[in-house]
Amino acid sequence: MRLLRALLRGAAPGSIPQQVDFYSRFSPSPLSMKQFLDFGSENACEKTSFMFLRQELPVRLANIMKEISLLPDNLLRTPSVQLVQSWYVQSLQEILDFKDKSSEDSGAIHRFTDTVIKIRNRHNDVIPTMAQGVIEYKESFGIDPVTSQNVQYFLDRFYMSRISIRMLLNQHSLLFGGKINPAHPKHIGSIDPSCNVVEVIRDGYESAKRLCDLYYMSSPEFILEELNAKSPGQPMQVVYVPSHLYHMVFELFKNAMRATMEHNADRCIYPPIHVHVTLGNEDLTVKMSDRGGGVPMRKIDRLFNYMYSTAPRPHVETSRATPLAGFGYGLPISRLYAQYFQGDLKLYSLEGYGTDAVIYIKALSTESIERLPVYNKAAWKHYKANHEADDWCVPSSEPKDMTTFRKYSLWFRRWIFFFLNISIIVLKSLLAHWLK
Ligand code: ADP
Ligand code: MG
Repeated sequence: MRLLRALLRGAAPGSIPQQVDFYSRFSPSPLSMKQFLDFGSENACEKTSFMFLRQELPVRLANIMKEISLLPDNLLRTPSVQLVQSWYVQSLQEILDFKDKSSEDSGAIHRFTDTVIKIRNRHNDVIPTMAQGVIEYKESFGIDPVTSQNVQYFLDRFYMSRISIRMLLNQHSLLFGGKINPAHPKHIGSIDPSCNVVEVIRDGYESAKRLCDLYYMSSPEFILEELNAKSPGQPMQVVYVPSHLYHMVFELFKNAMRATMEHNADRCIYPPIHVHVTLGNEDLTVKMSDRGGGVPMRKIDRLFNYMYSTAPRPHVETSRATPLAGFGYGLPISRLYAQYFQGDLKLYSLEGYGTDAVIYIKALSTESIERLPVYNKAAWKHYKANHEADDWCVPSSEPKDMTTFRKYSLWFRRWIFFFLNISIIVLKSLLAHWLK
């Protein structure tokens, strides 16, 4: 219906803002893991992929570009956000250059694949650049709770959109870019049709352990328990993007290790990190439990805020080494990776003891469907609506002093009584005077 309405309104006119308006009227089309696989297996066809992407990429880009334009003016004006915006404009323009090319033009299809690779590389640094923009804005203008909520809402959607656009770019460039990955010949682009979850978890642990050893000269052990409830005795496998799973477990291991090392620094005995992996009929679940002292419940939601970190901010310019912590992006981005294919990432904490971080992944490829933001009235309202007062009482740390309250209310009543009496006496004497 949106498509029809957009077409009825006429062809997309020339300028980029008009193109953004035009393409943002279409909803992105979420693909399932199964569709990604079908697309990339036997009948992998560059022409079909070209025709799909030259429509879908502008739609996904335009949808999120509309939301960028709703950010507060002062944030939009920061050099970093301007730079990110210019990358989006340039990439949209480059894809639109293929709008009128014939699908039989093999030269154009070939050039399109090169363009896809160029766009993917151009957008490599979107996350740190956008993060820099938010820091610049915060430092210059401060941030009130409403803006902070809007920025959080925006960043979740913006980064999710980026993950999805990158997935499409990666699939096309890996399938048709001419190079077969010799290490993983069975992968369909970035997807492993039989992703060995335990292997990825071990890789994530080893990388985090190397960092932890570097920073703390030691690291906690790791104990793995696996239960394949779906096919007992078989290895735990799902259709998934191993790099996404690796990203999540690597971030969770880094957090668990840092908490374990800091919390047990006095005793110098570091309790191991326990990982339980379970494959059921619907979910594949990875639970990582540490004994790093946990987080108070009050702070759990805050941990998913971009920029929230209890670690000192690392200096990116001085060293290119990966820091263990400090940007505050580990948890929120990992949760987006989990949610991208309809899973989730949650944190449960026992303050004083430790934390359980749980990753949920859909076990069936037919249920792993992209979760994509769409620009519509509901999204627009999020940025524009005035945030009204909460409909729950704000608890006060100081209980109301009812004795003072009563004392003042008694004084108030006495004064009213006094004035009423005076007024009656004055009225009575006036009446008596007139009636004389
Ligand atoms: P970063 O690690 O860069 O600080 P994250 O998003 O990964 O950013 O984590 C945010 C914050 O959440 C950390 O700084 C830490 O205070 C807290 N946190 C995360 N995981 C744990 C954990 N397992 N135990 C205790 N605190 C944690
Ligand atoms: Mg972290």
